[in-house]
Amino acid sequence: EGFLPFEHEPYHNFQDPATAQAQEQAFRSVREQYVGRTFPMIIAGREATGEKTHDVHNPADTREVVWRFPNATHAQREEAIAAAKAAFEDWRFSDPFQRATIFKRAAELLRARRFEFNAVMTLENGKNWSEADGEVAESVDHFEVFAREAMRWAQGKAVYPMPDEHVTTVYEPLGVVACINPWNFPSAIPLGMALGAIAAGNTVIWKPASDTPLSSYLMVELLFQAGLPRGVIQFVTGDHDVLGDDLVDHKDIRMIAFTGSKNIGCRIYERASKVHPGQRWLKRVIAEMGGKDPMVICADADLDEAAAGIVAAAFGYAGQKCSACSRVIAEDSVYDALLEKVVERAKRLKVGLPEDNADLGPVIHERAARNILRYIEGGKKTAKLVLGGDQPDMGDRRGGYVNPTIFSEVEPNDPLFQEEIFGPVLAFSRARDWRHAIELANDSEYGLTASFYSRDPHKITEARKLMHFGNLYINRKCTGALSGTHAFGGYGMSGTNAKVGGPDYLFWFMQTKTIAQRY
Ligand code: NAD
Repeated sequence: EGFLPFEHEPYHNFQDPATAQAQEQAFRSVREQYVGRTFPMIIAGREATGEKTHDVHNPADTREVVWRFPNATHAQREEAIAAAKAAFEDWRFSDPFQRATIFKRAAELLRARRFEFNAVMTLENGKNWSEADGEVAESVDHFEVFAREAMRWAQGKAVYPMPDEHVTTVYEPLGVVACINPWNFPSAIPLGMALGAIAAGNTVIWKPASDTPLSSYLMVELLFQAGLPRGVIQFVTGDHDVLGDDLVDHKDIRMIAFTGSKNIGCRIYERASKVHPGQRWLKRVIAEMGGKDPMVICADADLDEAAAGIVAAAFGYAGQKCSACSRVIAEDSVYDALLEKVVERAKRLKVGLPEDNADLGPVIHERAARNILRYIEGGKKTAKLVLGGDQPDMGDRRGGYVNPTIFSEVEPNDPLFQEEIFGPVLAFSRARDWRHAIELANDSEYGLTASFYSRDPHKITEARKLMHFGNLYINRKCTGALSGTHAFGGYGMSGTNAKVGGPDYLFWFMQTKTIAQRY
């Protein structure tokens, strides 16, 4: 479609001293340029301040306020929605090739600023270098993928022909899309949802999580720099008292694209079903929610490979990924050996400062850590604690640091087995055999990601059929989906299964027009 073949953006190798130095330099310049500043919103193409602002804290030491963002007022929310509605009247007719070209240019701009975007993310959400780098690389991939998707969907679809009518099926945008975002992937998740909307010709209300607005702000500015008309994105910040229910309920919002917790996702889904006076459509909602992701290890699996995958998936970014492994289900005959290998590896992980690229940083804030510690205290009564279960001594730093924690002999009815904890807490459960292991894996309201480790083609065939997950990985870890390749989204209470980065994602942001013409 007019572009060079797609290639995933490669990750930086921080073992290389020059690369590490470049990342360190980026921390220095981000601290000089951005720390202490108050950033604006962008409404109707203009910078806007609020009546109040909120502080964004460095999770590594929450005493440090890194930057501030405005709290939108009710009037500003209305202004943003009106501006998005007005901009839609132009943008809906924009040439998909123009949209694609803007995304390609944005990809180039982002490639040149990856270290800076990494550093910003580390300072506002506590990812270490590699985790931040993976996410920024994914954002570059999103630009490249959505450029191609914008062009591909513009071609419409073929229908079975008729002799006396010319019939076409084409896709048209919906209107104003409210994109509501979580803090744990502050660059790639908002970008993926916004690009889905924009690539299809919609306009966007972009609301970042209040913990992580700068990663979003810089991305929006970058899109404008790449040529996106400024009305196409309204960037609004603040809290859900103004940008929550009132945004979801608004009659001029055509669609809500949400990623976040199950509770808020369900709330939005329900509220959006109500038709308000003056509203001329049924709102569309995509809601991508939590996970309780298992890794199933069969007796014939390569246990070393499996242990490495488990540790990376469970403890990377302190377990704060929707795709993080939080349950290991192993066949009885290899359970003990596997547990030993996992504990051995997890023991070697260093908890420390994300800015120093420690293996595990803090969780997002102390409140989150307290919630995790409550689960740990419960687990101590119902299961067997085999690693961690406490907080490291970080001197006088304040932050939600939690040591990698592993529980063994976790029963399926235990909260450790059923509830999303969103921290570095891993539950091991014993299965009688591999079929029982699959049953246990499926025993969850969630169905986001899962892994299955075996070398037996028969077991693998069965697992491919029976495991009830949107993203199933065989003989590899359950984190690290790549845009354009591993379309991402779950089953069950993990959400609407919209599959960002996949071949059908844009369909969610469009309506289909059939035109039958006689001559
Ligand atoms: P959250 O649900 O607390 O917040 C998400 C967003 O919703 C925030 O921007 C918040 O301000 C907003 N919000 C809060 N109340 C609202 C309301 N009444 N109406 C509208 N918006 C409202 O989630 P979080 O803590 O930011 O993120 C972590 C969660 O996200 C975890 O459950 C994780 O599994 C999930 N997640 C899922 C995916 C996925 O692709 N399935 C990806 C990342 C994170």
